[in-house]
Amino acid sequence: MAQKVYIETVGCQMNVLDSELVIGALRKHGYDLTDSPADADVFLFNTCSVREHAEEKTFSALGRVRLLKRDKPGAVVGVLGCMAQKDQELIRKRAPYVDMIVGTGQLAAVPELVAKVRATREPQLAVSLGRSDAGRNEVEASFVSYDPTRDPSMRPTPFQAFVRIQIGCDKFCTYCVVPSTRGPEQSRPPEHIWHEVRQLVDQGCKEVTLIGQTVNSYVHESGDRKTRLSDLIAGMHDIAGLERIKFVTNYPKDMTDDLLDAVRELPKVVKYLHVPVQSGCDEVLKRMKRNYTAGYYMDMLARCRELAPGVSVSSDFIVGFCGETEESFQKSMELVRAAKFKNSFIFKYSERGGTKAAEKYPDDVPEDVKKRRNNDLLAVQNENSRADHRAQVGTTVEVLVEGPSRREQSALSGGRKPPVPEPASAIMQLTGHSMTDHIVVFDGTERLIGHTVRVAIKDASPFTLYGDVLTDEVVGADVSREPQASAVAPRPNKFSLPLV
Ligand code: SF4
Repeated sequence: MAQKVYIETVGCQMNVLDSELVIGALRKHGYDLTDSPADADVFLFNTCSVREHAEEKTFSALGRVRLLKRDKPGAVVGVLGCMAQKDQELIRKRAPYVDMIVGTGQLAAVPELVAKVRATREPQLAVSLGRSDAGRNEVEASFVSYDPTRDPSMRPTPFQAFVRIQIGCDKFCTYCVVPSTRGPEQSRPPEHIWHEVRQLVDQGCKEVTLIGQTVNSYVHESGDRKTRLSDLIAGMHDIAGLERIKFVTNYPKDMTDDLLDAVRELPKVVKYLHVPVQSGCDEVLKRMKRNYTAGYYMDMLARCRELAPGVSVSSDFIVGFCGETEESFQKSMELVRAAKFKNSFIFKYSERGGTKAAEKYPDDVPEDVKKRRNNDLLAVQNENSRADHRAQVGTTVEVLVEGPSRREQSALSGGRKPPVPEPASAIMQLTGHSMTDHIVVFDGTERLIGHTVRVAIKDASPFTLYGDVLTDEVVGADVSREPQASAVAPRPNKFSLPLV
């Protein structure tokens, strides 16, 4: 009988994609994926170090697995990714029963390491040595290789996929662990990326999300040819069957006009930009080493909206960063009021060992103040989100139908709906994203899943648009095919925090 592997993933899209690659590699070695820990022979935790909360979540998951491992002495427990890279000693101390610790640059070796643990019962450690040139080659060798057989069941849906175009980061924001856990910034050759996208489209993907820590810093030089993100996108735009191209996350200083021209001119490019600002106060931005001022950011935002009219923009904020006074926080409040983001991800600063901020600046904003600032900023953002979403009422938007809505999924998994899918003609609540990345919910039949439909927007909350599908106006392909059962099944992968 095939051995079973259970995987939990926290963190950003990079981690989701890494898990997909790891599972694809293990499948080649005869493993099956299970979403039930009780059935598993191999337990993997793909981890995130960006926030303390994510690390604690991993330690509590490891605590639960320890009990399962008592009844299965042959089981293998592995910690992968950023925490493995950054906190090997801590993991060994707090969870000595962990068999493998595998850094972000060594994930391709997971099948071999599992086999070694099984053969020897010796713990295995595989991590990068640092940001040296050796580290650069090591990261490139293990990550840039693409496995086309990677497991589609790990994707967000069968018709959406993440494509890594860049790894690492050279920006060194003082609060961030990514430059040390993910290594130096490197862009993949464009030919490799185009080839990968073609393969994904052949497998049924309609939407690709190009990912990088600072995706718009992408540049690949070969001889005298220089490929920027805009060139990369233009080079994949005409792939038949590909309907949407997204890219996240953007760095404000690298938002160039040629990229904004591509967003405006190329119809398959989603009209959405995620551009983290982090703070509205210049002194705080300087301590964060973000390399721009609030004024620069607002000018960049105006340029985005001028060159790509109708584009929606979202952002990230950190509140309570070292030395953030009430006055500096009020500058973030002013910026969020003026910027009118579609939505913002707001986080309380959490000190991370090994960062410049932890070394240089005391974490001096009390927790209750951080919490209050988080709530205050969120309240202003929610007002903006409400206005942004209300403005869509009365319009018609194109939606790539991703599957049943959350409400529908919890009815299915909570037993309030029959476990066997009803006939394809049964009406259910469906969801998907518009071309401006708004979440849209509407009633429709299962056969619409995986297709692009037009939806007339009738109502809106701060986070969701509600509408009626114009059933005669499926955009593109044939919907007479049988529904894809796999599209309805809950996805085993977990995806809980945005990119920093
Ligand atoms: S916050 Fe983003 S840009 Fe800054 S160091 Fe981290 S990954 Fe790089």
